[in-house]
Amino acid sequence: MRDYRSYSFWLEDAGEALTPRPPLTSSSEVDVAILGSGYSGLWTAYYLLLHEPALRVAVVEKEIAGFGASGRNGGWCSPNFSVTATGLEKRFGAEAARSLLLAMRASVDEVGRVCGQENIDARFHKGGVLTLARGQHQLPGIRSAYKAYERLGLGDRYRLLSAEEAAERIRVTSVHGALYTQDGASLHPARLVRGLARAVEARGGVIYEQTPVTGFGPGRLVTPGGELRAKRAVVIAGEAYVTRLPRLHRALLPVYSLISLTEPLTARQWSQIGWQGGESVSSTRNTVVYLTKTPDGRVLFGSRGAPYAFGSKIRDEQDTHEATVKMIQRSVLEWFPSLEGIRFTHAWGGPVGMPRDWMPAVRYDAGSRIASIMGYTGQGVSTSNLAGRLLAGLITDRQSGLEGLPLAQRSSPKWEIEPLRWLVVRYMQGAFLRIDEAAEAGRRRPMDAKVAEYLGGH
Ligand SMILES: Cc1cc2nc3c(=O)[nH]c(=O)nc-3n(C[C@H](O)[C@H](O)[C@H](O)COP(=O)(O)OP(=O)(O)OC[C@H]3O[C@@H](n4cnc5c(N)ncnc54)[C@H](O)[C@@H]3O)c2cc1C
Repeated sequence: MRDYRSYSFWLEDAGEALTPRPPLTSSSEVDVAILGSGYSGLWTAYYLLLHEPALRVAVVEKEIAGFGASGRNGGWCSPNFSVTATGLEKRFGAEAARSLLLAMRASVDEVGRVCGQENIDARFHKGGVLTLARGQHQLPGIRSAYKAYERLGLGDRYRLLSAEEAAERIRVTSVHGALYTQDGASLHPARLVRGLARAVEARGGVIYEQTPVTGFGPGRLVTPGGELRAKRAVVIAGEAYVTRLPRLHRALLPVYSLISLTEPLTARQWSQIGWQGGESVSSTRNTVVYLTKTPDGRVLFGSRGAPYAFGSKIRDEQDTHEATVKMIQRSVLEWFPSLEGIRFTHAWGGPVGMPRDWMPAVRYDAGSRIASIMGYTGQGVSTSNLAGRLLAGLITDRQSGLEGLPLAQRSSPKWEIEPLRWLVVRYMQGAFLRIDEAAEAGRRRPMDAKVAEYLGGH
């Protein structure tokens, strides 16, 4: 048996033994059968049972609830979407972009509301989101993001801060300004997913753990213990891990993200850094960084993870890629030199599911009775709530008001076949790092920057 506590600090700190629930041992029938006990599967189950309490809903999970990204993430419950506001406006027009961003904002509050209602101790803290411009070169990024929000009529929710105003919130080196919104929250990811699993059970849902789904078709999930037949719908909610099913191998790309965590800071260290508001903090780097102040007073610093592995492999060894862990630990000290000598207690990572067009997709085909929910590209904490509410509405034929959003009833193009996939993805990962490093060192942009940005959908 795996030691599930070892997969993240959050799982270790979930406040429970993580003992697996019993597996599925014989064939049976339900109304809705869901693959995957992460946020996506569980939010879908939760809203299905909320609106149709008599539905028979079962969730089938290979490991335990929260084993995947839902038990390992950076704890940002963000109003941001995987595609930027400018990108959404370009792709879908101003009205659809605005509706989607408003729905994202409402999802943050909905997560907090359900935690309160269901007594889920997810340490939900509405501290907002602070995007720092680290270096002069990052100022245009925050300014153009602010302009996009203004164009979409959301400017009143965002504030451009001067370097001094940013420093009043958090003291980080090389900051030239920041963009702030109060609309985001941070939370304890594992306590959310584990609490959500219990809320689903309290409403009559059944969760089978230690049960891999080896195949699926209209109205059925196939497992070693038997078939779970579903009269109304089968829901595929396995995010990055669905790429292991031959039928969905090219639907997403498993891209690793990695986190390093410090020991709890002393009161003196906190007084040097500030960060009293507990905002979710990032910069405009292409190679994303995300920071969270944990409820017990540590700095969580996340960034890219292990390089893409040929054939979309997902292996435990990739969770903690040594060179990346060291790079992240160096970044912590670059951002906060006053933490020199701090001890790093945990490092972990996991795969996020990246669609070819970066755009999540929620689908329900009433003909085949197959539904899927996937592709958050590392922005799934709040988006999965939105997606789960939308999907529950589609399955029960109930208007959720979300069916007009551009993630509904769509699918993304497939990723390239290998070895082309490996070549393109490794090239992009390297190119974005070179673009960031050149900007930070004050060098000219690499010659191929435009090509990389085009391929990366910027
Ligand atoms: C290191 C890291 C940091 C992140 N930080 C953030 C953040 O700060 N904010 C944010 O919004 N997002 C973040 N994300 C992304 C976010 O965590 C995910 O988008 C979200 O958790 C996805 O939820 P999910 O339920 O769709 O997938 P998962 O949580 O991955 O759940 C899928 C589940 O399906 C199960 N499964 C898969 N295949 C099968 C099968 N064949 N049979 C049975 N079970 C199966 C898996 O075991 C897993 O438990 C981060 C992700 C990582 C890895």
